[in-house]
Amino acid sequence: MQELTHYIDGEHVKGTSGRFADVMNPATGEVQAKVPLANKAEMDIAVAAAASAQPAWAAVNPQRRARVLMKFVDLLNRDMDKIAEALSREHGKTFPDAKGDIQRGLEVAEYCIAAPQMLKGEYTDAAGPGIDIYSMRQALGVTAGITPFNFPAMIPMWMFAPAIACGNAFILKPSERDPSVPLMLAELLEEAGLPKGIIQVVNGDKEAVDAILYDDTIQSVGFVGSTPIAEYIYGTGCAQGKRVQCFGGAKNHMIIMPDADLDQAADALVGAGYGAAGERCMAISVAVPVGEETADKLRDKLIPRIEKLKIAPYTAGDDVDYGPVVTSAAKENILRLVQTGVDQGADLVVDGRDFSLQGYEDGFFVGPHLFDNVTKDMDIYKTEIFGPVLSMVRAQNYEEALGLAMDHEYGNGTAIFTRDGDTARDFANRINIGMVGVNVPIPVPLAYHTFGGWKKSVFGDLNQHGPDAFKFYTRTKTITSRWPSGIKEGGEFHFKQMD
Ligand code: NAD
Repeated sequence: MQELTHYIDGEHVKGTSGRFADVMNPATGEVQAKVPLANKAEMDIAVAAAASAQPAWAAVNPQRRARVLMKFVDLLNRDMDKIAEALSREHGKTFPDAKGDIQRGLEVAEYCIAAPQMLKGEYTDAAGPGIDIYSMRQALGVTAGITPFNFPAMIPMWMFAPAIACGNAFILKPSERDPSVPLMLAELLEEAGLPKGIIQVVNGDKEAVDAILYDDTIQSVGFVGSTPIAEYIYGTGCAQGKRVQCFGGAKNHMIIMPDADLDQAADALVGAGYGAAGERCMAISVAVPVGEETADKLRDKLIPRIEKLKIAPYTAGDDVDYGPVVTSAAKENILRLVQTGVDQGADLVVDGRDFSLQGYEDGFFVGPHLFDNVTKDMDIYKTEIFGPVLSMVRAQNYEEALGLAMDHEYGNGTAIFTRDGDTARDFANRINIGMVGVNVPIPVPLAYHTFGGWKKSVFGDLNQHGPDAFKFYTRTKTITSRWPSGIKEGGEFHFKQMD
C-alpha cells in the first residue's frame, strides 16, 4: 500500500500523527494509497519553514518571481499526461477532463506571469509642495489554502500561483480524497526554481484546517468547498483576524426560452449536467424551460441524449462521457436524494439507479438521472446533489424562470439559452448570480477575469484569479514623503492642506 507524504520545506516527509485516510480508486472501489492527516505539530513545522523562507522570496524582484512561474508552466506542459493520469486515477474524471482541470489552473499561472505589471502600484507626483505619495502592494507573508476534491489541480493553482507571484509563502491543505496531484505540483514548482518553504503541502482533515485557522503567523486563508464548511472557515478565520475568502456550493439554473435552438440547448445541458458526473460547482443541475411546449420538446431531446451517455473508467478511452463519483459515501448520498425526489412526487424520466458496469461492480458509478416536474419545495431542488442528476422545473414565463434562479440560496453560475438579445441582456442585468452564460452553459471566466459567485456561494469580497487575486494576496501601503526642498516653514501644528 502506497503511503503518501506531506511536502514540507522542500522534502517529502512522512506523517507523524499516526492518523491516515484512505485514497480510493473510484473506478474499482479499491484503496490505492493512504494519506497522512497532519496534526498541529506538523502544521507548526510547515508554518515555521514558510515564515523563515518568505522574506527572502518577497525580496526577489517580481520579474524573477514571474520567471519561476514561466518555467513551472513549461514543466506542467511537459508532465501533463502523467499528472492527468494520476488525477483521473484518484478523482475518477475522464482523461480529457483531467487535462482540462490542469489546463484551467495552468492558465492562471500564465496570467500571474504579469505580476510585475500587476504589482506596480500608484504614484502621485507633487501632491503638495515637495510632497509625493505612492502606494505599493506588499506580500502578506505566510498564506494558506484549503481545496476541494473536485478540481485537485485547478483550484490549488488558482490560489498558489498568485500567492507566490506576489511574494508570499503558501501552505496548501488539499482534499484528502485526491492528494497526489497537489504533491506533484509542489515538486514541479521547486524544479522550476522556487525556494524551499515557499510552497508546502500539508495533508489532512479538520484538525489540519483548524491548525491553519488558529495559527497566528498565517495571514490569509483561501477556501473552496461546500457551503457549510465555507461558512465555518470564514467565520473562524475572520474572528482570528485573518483575511479570508471562501467559495461554497451551487445549484446552477439554465433557462431555456421558447426561441432557443433546442438541439443546442439539449447538447449543452447534457454536457453541463452530466460532465464530470455532475461534480462541478459550475454544473447545471436545474433546467428551466419556459412554457409547456418548450419543456415537452426539450425533454424529448434530452432523453435519447442521456440514454446514449458512455459511463466508464477513464481507462476506457477518450470517448467516455463521465466516470465514477469520488467515494461510496458520495454515491449513497446521490441515490438517497434521488429517492427523495421520487418520494416527493417528481417524475423520474431517466432512472439511473440500477446502473452497474461489468467488471467494475465495486466502483462508484452512478447512472444518469433526469427528473421532470420538479418543484421548489423538493429536496432535490433545494440541495446541491453533486452527482449526475438533472432536474427540470417548468416555468410558465420568463419572469417566473428568472425569479426561480433569483430566489435560490446559491448564486454561483447560471445560463440563459435564447436567440433574443433583449431577453439575454435583461437576464444578465437583473440576475443576482455571479457568473452568467448567454448560450454558454458553463460560464467559467478565463484567468484574466475573476471567478466568484454571489449569495451562499461565496463568503468574502474578492473573487478568485484575475486582478482580484493580486489584491487578495497583497496589502496596500501608502507612503507620503516630503523632501527638504519642500520644507521651508519650520514646524507645522495643523492638519496641512495640499495647497
Ligand atoms: P468539502 O467542503 O467537503 O471539503 C473541502 C475542504 O474542506 C477539503 O480540503 C476538506 O478536507 C475540508 N473539510 C472538510 N470538512 C471539514 C470540516 N468539518 N472542517 C474543516 N475543514 C473541512 O468539499 P468537497 O466535497 O471536497 O468539494 C465539493 C464542494 O465544493 C461542492 O459543494 C462544490 O460546489 C464546492 N466547490 C465550489 C467551488 C466554487 O468555486 N464555488 C469550486 C469547486 C467546488
